[in-house]
Amino acid sequence: MKPSFLSLSLIQRISYLTVLLLLTIAFGASAQTQALAKTDLHRPGEKPFSFNTTPGALSKFVVPKKTAAHFNLDPYSDNFSGTVMHTIDVSKATNQIRLHADGLTIEKAMWGEVPLTVSADKDAQTITLTAAREIGVGTHQIEIAFSGKMTANGYGLYFSRYKDASGADRRMLATQLEPIGAREMLPCFDEPAFRTVWDIAVTTDEKYMALSNMPVAKSNVENGKRRTEFAATPSMSSYLLALAVGEFEKTSDRIDGIELNIYTVATKHKNTQYAMDATKRVLTYYKDYFGSAYPLPKLDQIAVPGQRGAMENWGLITYSEDLLMVDPLTAAYGQRFYAFNVIAHEIAHQWFGNLVTMAWWDGLWLNESFAEWMAHKATAALNPDWDLTSRKAEAKEQAMDADALSSASPIERTVTRDQNSGELFDSLTYQKGHAVLNMIERYAGETQWRDGLRDYMAKHAYSNATSADLWAAISAKTAATGRDVQAFADTWTQQPGFPLLDASMVCKDGMQTLTLKQTRFSLRAGYVPQQTWSLAVLVAQPLSKDKAALTTFVTLQPQQLAMGKCGEPVLVDVGGGGYYRVRYDAAMAKALNANAAAVPMADRLRLMADSWALAEAGLLDPSHTFDLIASLKASDAPELWSEAIGTYTRLSQLIRSGPQLQALHAHARTTLAKPFAALGWETKAGDTELTKSLRGDLIAALGTYGDAAALTEARKRLASIEQGDAAMDGDVRAGILRAIGARASIAEIDRLAAMMASGKNTALEWPLMEAMSSVVDPKVAKHVLSYSLSDSFPRSTAQRLVGRVARNGLHDRLAWEFTQSNLQKLFDRNSKYGQRYIIAAPLNNSRDTALAVKVKALAEKHLEADARVETLRNVASVERNAWAYDAVKNKLGFLRENSGRG
Ligand SMILES: [Zn+2]
Repeated sequence: MKPSFLSLSLIQRISYLTVLLLLTIAFGASAQTQALAKTDLHRPGEKPFSFNTTPGALSKFVVPKKTAAHFNLDPYSDNFSGTVMHTIDVSKATNQIRLHADGLTIEKAMWGEVPLTVSADKDAQTITLTAAREIGVGTHQIEIAFSGKMTANGYGLYFSRYKDASGADRRMLATQLEPIGAREMLPCFDEPAFRTVWDIAVTTDEKYMALSNMPVAKSNVENGKRRTEFAATPSMSSYLLALAVGEFEKTSDRIDGIELNIYTVATKHKNTQYAMDATKRVLTYYKDYFGSAYPLPKLDQIAVPGQRGAMENWGLITYSEDLLMVDPLTAAYGQRFYAFNVIAHEIAHQWFGNLVTMAWWDGLWLNESFAEWMAHKATAALNPDWDLTSRKAEAKEQAMDADALSSASPIERTVTRDQNSGELFDSLTYQKGHAVLNMIERYAGETQWRDGLRDYMAKHAYSNATSADLWAAISAKTAATGRDVQAFADTWTQQPGFPLLDASMVCKDGMQTLTLKQTRFSLRAGYVPQQTWSLAVLVAQPLSKDKAALTTFVTLQPQQLAMGKCGEPVLVDVGGGGYYRVRYDAAMAKALNANAAAVPMADRLRLMADSWALAEAGLLDPSHTFDLIASLKASDAPELWSEAIGTYTRLSQLIRSGPQLQALHAHARTTLAKPFAALGWETKAGDTELTKSLRGDLIAALGTYGDAAALTEARKRLASIEQGDAAMDGDVRAGILRAIGARASIAEIDRLAAMMASGKNTALEWPLMEAMSSVVDPKVAKHVLSYSLSDSFPRSTAQRLVGRVARNGLHDRLAWEFTQSNLQKLFDRNSKYGQRYIIAAPLNNSRDTALAVKVKALAEKHLEADARVETLRNVASVERNAWAYDAVKNKLGFLRENSGRG
């Protein structure tokens, strides 16, 4: 969605402020402050929460207070039925009540004894109930009987197919109601501000277990049917409602009087202890951080076969199986990190989102950016032996990729129709939000920030909030520091894009002066409009013992800082936490390279990532990045080697074919052989998580780039993976699978697919999909694509396969042909939301502008205008990739000349 509130006047207003703020915290100098001018333009979340002025399709004079729903459910039926009784407060007499329903059949609707006629607005996904006489001001009850259809598409109330331990086909039911799936499950007031108390009951065959947000209050069996009634929820938004029905097994524990359960489907229950331990540690951390305990009597977490990711339903969080069943001995570090981090993210939502809910979808960042930021904070604090530097850097790069495009939206964006809210769940809301919150926390001060968040939680508990409510709570705590945190934050949350900081040094009379100048990072001159940001930059001399100084400024005018004696290296944005890029002048870059050993790892990582991004934008020669790679020693930090692998991968996707690609692969094989020789195939005592992770990545990279020895060894070890070798290190296993997948024959792809279809090791689902989709040979890639229509694969994996194959950068045309020929089949196997991704998928990582035109036309033919955002985003990234290739293609001579170096 194009941001309507970002007009030139905001940009000009900020750029006219030329006040220089120097806050030299470490040196104790007195701080001057100057607030940014507040914009008077409309923007999302600018006013405190008010139910009556919150956007939405429903009238505000009919408000549900209690919603009692009963469902008849059978996992093996494609249909379900139910009744719902809404107790509503009517504040203005009316004879019409509008609520949401989509894809449901309304059997009957009654207001007490009065029948209601039903009319549906398919486009708005609402129904209007009309009474023959006026419904007066006061409390009323509306009862509706309905039925609906379930799909296997992972949205709404859906069934999931899986194989049990004996290989028999089974099904279970689960829900995924965020953002707007509740209206597919029952007629309800499906907007976040319409909180209600939910009283849920389920009737199923007695052999099934039923779970919901709250504990079971009553369970009766009659004629082989079990009726399960759950305790009433606290006041809660519809998207957080949850049900699960099936044959389950559980692991239980308690903490602080809260019952904790981890459920999986029966006969497959194992390795849940890791998730349980993580849950307990995270709950304790959050209770301390937020100053308030988890508020429900129980927290269930359930692994749903075939689900990807997780959903934070209050009291019943759903996850993919690999997130809750983690074998701590054999899971790769990346998998353990991901599991811990996602659990921490979902549990953070029990506060950010569930206890205090965004008023409307334009406030999604109050849920997602915060849960993402909080999860990383907890993960880092609770796992001091995991260095999250490279994880954070990787997430930031992902966000900057999307944020450099002209299609980028701000973190906070206007949402007029909730049918478009699915677009908000992107790297800008999550990864940019996370990076920006890190900067804002640093600017506000860690303690003030936390205290502000505590107040925000306490004040808005069991209610909704906007950004204005958040900033009011934070500002009350930071007022004494003189810093206007909201004004600082607004430049980051209300604008798309990010700055490029140009750092240059002038030497005079033996002393040097640093000049910092900000412009908007642009892939090409004039590609995006100019803007400025409020900056808080840490500048330091790595050879000096003095602490870094935090330099804060809000201006387009260059900032000048005295930096001691000439020739001393100077780092801008120490620690690499800033959400911007830094370009050093030649002398500064030289001084840093000459003192690389004194430069902290995080900053070296930043230098590598920035230099490559600048090369793609035509702002720096690509050889600069390869000089940094060439200067790496085998013993250097694994993060730096992983970054080098990332550069090879990216450049390989840009080059795609021909002699340049051969030269790049040869260069990569030579360079990467060096650290791999030091690491070897086997885990060594004292290997850190990151070392193990790098070993796996090196195996995958060497295999992908055609290293014959690596491929031979990987193939030797495949049989033992097929036999379930539990002793093999998880990272080595994932690396082997990717190496084989990249160079696979059709027969080898079938072997990988058989492992996927067996459903025996859910932890392998993701590595197997990565492996199959990294295939290089187009004939084999075609074969891989056919598995996207397979019912033997978990549906969520099959749904993603085309996009993943396209993503490896080589097979966009193949993916396009496949999508065109199978469009209806692919649509049928996806939710309505998923369809927009199906069309956009062939452009993942493409640089084929002619193909982009065709994909755009297909989107115009099959998707509503506002469902084309994903396609337009991918079209913009095709343009970016084409420019990036243009920027570097004639400057790659060094690959051939020097493929033997390193
Ligand atoms: Zn989330």
